[in-house]
Amino acid sequence: KASLMDGVKVDQEPPTESIEKSMAKSAFGKLQEDRKTLPIYSYRDELLQAINDHQVLVIVGETGSGKTTQIPQYLHEAGYTKRGKIGCTQPRRVAAMSVAARVSQEMGVKLGNEVGYSIRFEDCTSGKTILKYMTDGMLLREFVGEADLASYSVIMVDEAHERTLSTDMLFGLVKDLARFRPDLKLLISSATLDAEKFSDYFDCAPIFKIPGRRFPVEIHYTKAPEADYMDAAVVTALQIHVTQPPGDGDILIFLTGQEEIETAEEMIKHRIRGLGTKIAELIICPIYANLPTELQAKIFEPTPEGARKVVLATNIAETSLTIDGIKYVIDPGFSKMKSYNPRTGMESLLVTPISKASANQRAGRSGRTGPGKCFRLYTAHNYMNDFKDNTVPEIQRTNLANVVLSLKSIGIIDLMDFDFMDPPPSEALLQALEQLFALAALNQLGELTTTGRRMAEFPLDPMLSKAIVASDKYKCSDEIISIAAMLSVVNSIFYRPKDKQVHADNARMNFHMGNVGDHIALLKVYNSWKETNFSTQWCYENYIQVRSMKRARDIRDQLEGLLERVEIELSSNVNDLEAIKKSITSGFFPHSARLQKNGSYRAVKRPQAVNIHPSSGLVQALPRWVVYHELVLTSKEYMRQVTELKPEWLVEIAPHYYQLKDVEDSSSKKMPCGIAPAEDLEFTYNRFRSVNLSLDGI
Ligand code: ADP
Ligand code: MG
Repeated sequence: KASLMDGVKVDQEPPTESIEKSMAKSAFGKLQEDRKTLPIYSYRDELLQAINDHQVLVIVGETGSGKTTQIPQYLHEAGYTKRGKIGCTQPRRVAAMSVAARVSQEMGVKLGNEVGYSIRFEDCTSGKTILKYMTDGMLLREFVGEADLASYSVIMVDEAHERTLSTDMLFGLVKDLARFRPDLKLLISSATLDAEKFSDYFDCAPIFKIPGRRFPVEIHYTKAPEADYMDAAVVTALQIHVTQPPGDGDILIFLTGQEEIETAEEMIKHRIRGLGTKIAELIICPIYANLPTELQAKIFEPTPEGARKVVLATNIAETSLTIDGIKYVIDPGFSKMKSYNPRTGMESLLVTPISKASANQRAGRSGRTGPGKCFRLYTAHNYMNDFKDNTVPEIQRTNLANVVLSLKSIGIIDLMDFDFMDPPPSEALLQALEQLFALAALNQLGELTTTGRRMAEFPLDPMLSKAIVASDKYKCSDEIISIAAMLSVVNSIFYRPKDKQVHADNARMNFHMGNVGDHIALLKVYNSWKETNFSTQWCYENYIQVRSMKRARDIRDQLEGLLERVEIELSSNVNDLEAIKKSITSGFFPHSARLQKNGSYRAVKRPQAVNIHPSSGLVQALPRWVVYHELVLTSKEYMRQVTELKPEWLVEIAPHYYQLKDVEDSSSKKMPCGIAPAEDLEFTYNRFRSVNLSLDGI
């Protein structure tokens, strides 16, 4: 027989193993060796013992020690999967996908079989799956269908220090569940040493510490504040690259989002060209939430000899993902954070200074495999005086409508009694209840209505879910789910390369013909693509991102499946634009605004001035009344995805929310007859407010 090494077939007899197979085998062997070098490996038996002895265990270990990838495997090896799946939650989609991919390699199985992941709109698991990585939000949804999580033997709430809204909700739910299911093991794992809080919350659960290997990190501050941190970050990276020998370590830059990362990538490419050909190769690796899956793996590929990698990452590289070989960290000191004003109901993503805890995590990324250096693009004084110790948990700075709807559908009646680790401001809770009441998802007693139950099935913002549920009445559910799917990927539908902006803008305006509004323009994009049988060529010709469209199609398919589940018929009414707009208004009526004399808009129920986003098709001819999808704050407060509406629709659709006097225009006194002034409903609404203000019966 041919030896494995030469792999030559002899006498038609198949070789015992192909080269590929043996190479795969040796790669597999290497992975097994790598697993043993992780800090967690020497604590494997002790950890399993502790899990055996205690129902709830808090696990603390530095990023990269092997918590996420190893603990579920250890549990599997110890036989826990005989009793049920092991679920491991991640706050970030990319982390769930990437870690699952890694673990499937380590176990030598195909991703989606024994090891899988589940994130919103993407379920990569099967009946075989025993190790399931998922976003915290997905486990929250699983509670709706399976309140006792009977199919799980272990739940690991990972990255607990991130304190996302869904993680905080899960804390309360799994804590309660553990009492009912003594056989369920609960692991709370975190990268920070501040584990006492978790332990206290989980009835003094023991803390298992995995000592990390940390090399010293030299920290450098700037002498004066940086006016332009993007520029400073790029310059610092290039200085390191040029002055330090290649091969001594890679660079990691923390930026706030996709846009900044793309800009930084261009800046680096541009400037490196100016440095001549003597410079060592610099490989740019971006990583952010919406990065296509195929490109995500690139950050983990080993850096070739003589080259250097520069990773441009969002917060995701702070603790969720470990990239080996980083020696230099560049930290501008910002991240994008959600902030919410319960008084105005306004939610926005803002670039905000990070906390001291975050800054230290970031610095730590440089000292994992050897001594590192961290360049902070802010002053030491800045750090000491302007940075908070810890990031405020999301639950205290977000709109809660979505999560309140989920909890109500899980059967948590009394939110005031819910065991929050840090309770949300009661004002925000109240706002959420009011919003859900206005959307008719809750009745006056705060109970889930049939509409609310249907809405809760959709993994979307309640207003968007409501638009879908309402489309049943207007017989245009087909169109509304297309729009909802497009809105879910909207930021990356239109392609606008720098050198072809005029062409791209012209192509985009084609979909806006007749000033139909942004929602219907999105529908036209989707339907036109569908008419070409989902042609890629068509996308190129129209400056549309084909990848985003495919994602929209996937999402749309899932929404169609959910329609069936809530017994809404798929009905199409593509020529009745009014029906489509009315469905959207049924969900988004709280987001209506009226044109002011100075060209800005004012929300009917709110004092702020807002503007139509420059990317909107309606920005040329401002309609008198609009309904918008969301607000974004850049230089001004902008409404994004805007559609014209008729003010009388507001009174017709939401008489409990708007009355004639709200929508009467001084210039157009003519209002439709036949709509009763909604006094009775106003009374109900006010009564509901007072019920809630006393916070009983919630
Ligand atoms: P922790 O959860 O404690 O932060 P992990 O289990 O995520 O640690 O990581 C352990 C090791 O596995 C790290 O050294 C990291 O480089 C490696 N690793 C994790 N995910 C991947 C991946 N998707 N590709 C390659 N290596 C990975
Ligand atoms: Mg981890």
